[in-house]
Amino acid sequence: MPTRSPYFLLLALALGSATVGANDAVPATKPAVAKKPAAVDIQATSASNAKEVGDQLREALGVAPKKKLTITVSGTGPAGAASASRRPPAHAAASQAAKTGAEAHGGEVHWAYEGDVGPQAWGKLKPDFNVCALGKRQSPINIEDGNTLQGPAEPLLFNYTASNGTVLNNGHTIQVDVQGDNTITVRGSRYKLLQFHFHTPSEEQVNGKRAAMVAHLVHKNDDGQLAVVAVLLEPGVANPLIDKVWTYMPLEVNDRVRMPRELLNLNELLPTDQRYYQFMGSLTTPPCTEGVLWTVLKQPMQISRAQYKLFTQLYANNARPVQALNGRPVREAQ
Ligand SMILES: [Zn+2]
Repeated sequence: MPTRSPYFLLLALALGSATVGANDAVPATKPAVAKKPAAVDIQATSASNAKEVGDQLREALGVAPKKKLTITVSGTGPAGAASASRRPPAHAAASQAAKTGAEAHGGEVHWAYEGDVGPQAWGKLKPDFNVCALGKRQSPINIEDGNTLQGPAEPLLFNYTASNGTVLNNGHTIQVDVQGDNTITVRGSRYKLLQFHFHTPSEEQVNGKRAAMVAHLVHKNDDGQLAVVAVLLEPGVANPLIDKVWTYMPLEVNDRVRMPRELLNLNELLPTDQRYYQFMGSLTTPPCTEGVLWTVLKQPMQISRAQYKLFTQLYANNARPVQALNGRPVREAQ
């Protein structure tokens, strides 16, 4: 038996956990599963070598030397025994991590649209989010009519049918995961609809102006490439599809409500004039992954004041600021 009881240091980490649940990328068939926080057990035989332990932890986790670590001391006990099954309680991890400005939610790094973890900080919240700050093809963008490539362009082929849906409040938006045979065909590839969700005001700007809201319809092809169709929403008459979705609105974050079978039909969200702007961009939420084909329909759809109000009561502002074009061409279908 050692004369001094070793400390068990459990590391509760927002740092280094996997990224799950970006708004623009969650597959409909796979609900985001909160990953357990990583736990690393390291023994310190005295308080004097705490710094050394910290250095070991940093090295083990690949954390930069100056980066602050959050450590929960869970008590004393015999070396090795029972440590493998111990995990820090989620609330302790969250409260500890909050002090470093990286609050954990079920093992995910917390980000938001304002404050310390707002868009200007996304790129620094974890290494996987680097591209939010460093990427050169980020979304959303401001589309200037006078600066587009105007000309003929293929029609977007929408093939949407009656489908099943589950409405989710994911803490960043209201999202509907879609199960059904819904595809678009564009640029010679077929993309399947995974989910759609909303932002207010619209993230994309046209001539410096945002719409009241936007719906993002997220599709993926067999090669794993993403194509997002943006439908701008302006105040007017009520939209029937949004009426159905709002009817099954979840009550709190991470609450999910299954809609009646085949109630969803995304055709109800599409304008009759389907001319568009198109450009390459990124997810507009962390991890801001690039290589996303963006198509913004030029004709807005209408929503009622009441429909708009309900969403803004939940999310008053969930739009990322516009990002630099960096010379990207924007195509404008005539
Ligand atoms: Zn979006």
